[in-house]
Amino acid sequence: ELREWQSRLRAQFPITTGHPEPVYLDSAATTQKPQPVLDAAWTYLTTTNANAGRGTYPWANRTTALVEHTRGRIKEFLYDPAPGLSSTHFTSGTTDGLSTIAHDWIPAYLADGDEIVVPEADHQANIVPWLEAQRLLARRGVDVRVVPMPYQAGSGDYDHRALAELAGARTRFVAVTHVHHVYGGDMNVHRVRQAVGPEAVICLDAAQSVGHMPVSVADLDVDFVVFSGHKALALPSTGAVWARHARGPAFRPGGWNGTPNTVGIASLTAALDWLDAAGLGRIEGWTVALAARLTDGLRHLDAYEVLGCQTSLAADSAVQRRRGIVAFRHREIASGDLGFILFSHGFMVRSDSHCQGSAGEKTGSVRASSHLHNTPEEIHRLLAVLRTLQ
Ligand code: PMP
Repeated sequence: ELREWQSRLRAQFPITTGHPEPVYLDSAATTQKPQPVLDAAWTYLTTTNANAGRGTYPWANRTTALVEHTRGRIKEFLYDPAPGLSSTHFTSGTTDGLSTIAHDWIPAYLADGDEIVVPEADHQANIVPWLEAQRLLARRGVDVRVVPMPYQAGSGDYDHRALAELAGARTRFVAVTHVHHVYGGDMNVHRVRQAVGPEAVICLDAAQSVGHMPVSVADLDVDFVVFSGHKALALPSTGAVWARHARGPAFRPGGWNGTPNTVGIASLTAALDWLDAAGLGRIEGWTVALAARLTDGLRHLDAYEVLGCQTSLAADSAVQRRRGIVAFRHREIASGDLGFILFSHGFMVRSDSHCQGSAGEKTGSVRASSHLHNTPEEIHRLLAVLRTLQ
């Protein structure tokens, strides 16, 4: 029954129907788009295309309504328990969202002597903007200290105990990632909150969780959620920031924050509808099982090392942290070469250092990341090729 469900939804991704069938295992970089998302973009551009928040004729009104509807849709998608208090801001992706917070929000809230926690083995997009914010404040004579987020060796999780010792009354802003883009683990955001206390503002880089698993701001005690629409089945250059409290300085002030990516927003609404209809819990279960299959297979191949948290098909689901991302390396073949070999067999994976920060892996890896269109057969075929390279 699960298989039937998956086959039906896989068939909605036009890109999977090429000959020979390409195996796309790079959904952590960007996701493929199902037909209803493409249809929504086409329909919008061919029936309604206008600017938002300005004109008063029907197309303009419909576009404004679409943008406002999508704001509400994002809140609903994130299980926002108090949508009247929160706000959403459209961006071109996670990097843009995090930078916007760093430029437009942080300077208004931080004072001399405050501390910001920066996770230096996360994606660069979750490091560079905070260091920029520190420089921006320093130029205004406000001295903000950067506290590097500690990690547990091997597991790819944050070291919550060490964090609790480092965090103090002046810890004002904490940047964390929901699912690590290299180590693949769910980063235990609850434990970060416990470690830093109730007062600190937590900003969540949800690039690898939104669109891949249920993400609930009713559950997660965070103040900002930042994600990329294009990693959640919507068109390129889409994304959003969700802020728990709408009050505060304007993001990117100007005429209605400039002209929004209206076709991207149309695709985002359709993508969120598609994901909700498919069921994010089931999508998560599917991709977690594929990742477990891959890590179990790799563990039997001596030439390979899997990065980050360990997981297994046999593991208790309650303790299994790995989501749908597996990064690994061959003990002798360089990752770039391995990626090239895999592509010659039809597998599209990412191979390099994956934009990881300076405290991350010093040598690259190959990363396989999945979405609902991937199948256990694809993972078996991948493992079969990897086996021949032992
Ligand atoms: N954060 C994480 C954890 C990511 O994986 C990525 C994308 N690889 C980003 C931020 C940046 O996202 P975008 O390219 O949409 O700006």
